[in-house]
Amino acid sequence: MNELSKHMPELPPAALTSDQSLWKISAWSGEFVDRQAEHEYLHKHSQLIARQLLTALAIWAILMLLFAIPDYHALGPTPAFWESLAMRGVTCLLIGVLALLVARSPIRATEARWITMLELIAISLFMGVYQLRPEIVAWIVTLTLIMLISLFIFLPNRVPAVLGVALYMAVATVVAVHLVSPRSPGEMAALSLLLLVPIGIGWAAALRTQILQRKQYALWRQAQQANEALSREMDERARLQEALVKQATTDPLTGLNNRRQYETLFATELARAQRKGNALALCIIDLDHFKQVNDTWGHSAGDQVLRDVAQLCRDNFRAVDILGRLGGEEFVVLLPDTDLPTAAHIARRFIETLAATPIALGAEDIRITATAGVVQRDPDEEQLESLVQRADKALYEGKRAGRNRVITV
Ligand code: GH3
Ligand code: MG
Ligand code: MG
Repeated sequence: MNELSKHMPELPPAALTSDQSLWKISAWSGEFVDRQAEHEYLHKHSQLIARQLLTALAIWAILMLLFAIPDYHALGPTPAFWESLAMRGVTCLLIGVLALLVARSPIRATEARWITMLELIAISLFMGVYQLRPEIVAWIVTLTLIMLISLFIFLPNRVPAVLGVALYMAVATVVAVHLVSPRSPGEMAALSLLLLVPIGIGWAAALRTQILQRKQYALWRQAQQANEALSREMDERARLQEALVKQATTDPLTGLNNRRQYETLFATELARAQRKGNALALCIIDLDHFKQVNDTWGHSAGDQVLRDVAQLCRDNFRAVDILGRLGGEEFVVLLPDTDLPTAAHIARRFIETLAATPIALGAEDIRITATAGVVQRDPDEEQLESLVQRADKALYEGKRAGRNRVITV
């Protein structure tokens, strides 16, 4: 475990953050037990379900109209034919109304009530056929068997609703057959059983499809949630890492490089200057009479002054210069590729700017000055410590000479 990871809080594994119970599927309805999950699923698929429903409605309407042809062949232009045509017309009209409703708002395709209502009315109208054409009862029952299975696999609707509609159709068929051509109880029982077969098959098929579709959706959503959690965790870790790096390299009060960091950066610059023979200058800045600031305004006001001076350093030195807090009210600046006159010029500019800049402490402004010692690396000077000592000596001279100035060595 490295130094940084020791500080990392333990985050839960991504997979645990997704709630398994949310995706439980009812074996009876083939829907998510959680209403919110079911709503989300339907909402996500409403366009697709609407398209399936519109296609099914179109085929239904076409078949309804086509079957008018054999009706006409059998009945001719009789009142029975017109009655059957009226039944077909009304059903097609209702199909058209539902298609319009769904086309306008696809979410309606996922609401059981619309399609269920249409199915119940259409089936009730269809029962009239037994009255109109009692001579082809067997034919109509066969058609009914096909219609029963189509209800489950052809017209998208909620499985429990379809089951209800199918049972209604079966009961209505048994009653209609009994009314138009009464049979023995044995035959009626056989008819009932016959009608239950497509209902059973259709119900099982519809349930299986619904459950499979939802299982797939749940898997996809869980993977998506795990991905989201993982990406959140990665962001959080990156943020923490960044914060820790900042903490490890900067001085918390001023935000300047701390000793460890500036020593590392200085060593790199020193090695580069040695290798290339470039000039390198170092400047130490110490605030004048800073103890008085603390004594007069308090320690936190002193802290505020240190922060403001650090900002002024950032504003006035160049981007290439490396700034650090040496400790207390002392700052250190390394100026790469810079000779003594240039470094002295830059330091002087800063000292003058500082002296001229009012620092706000509450309602009052105070002025603060600083003294700086500036040195240039000698060609044979290999230790940073030696540069710092010489700059410190120059700084001490500046203090003795009356402060608010730059001394070069
Ligand atoms: P000189 O002009 O000779 O440098 O006088 P000075 O008062 O600045 O020097 P001295 O070294 O006597 O005092 C430095 C003061 O800086 C003493 C200490 O309380 C204060 N100081 C050091 N670090 C901090 C800090 O982090 N915050 C605050 N507010 N004060 C600090
Ligand atoms: Mg000091
Ligand atoms: Mg001081």
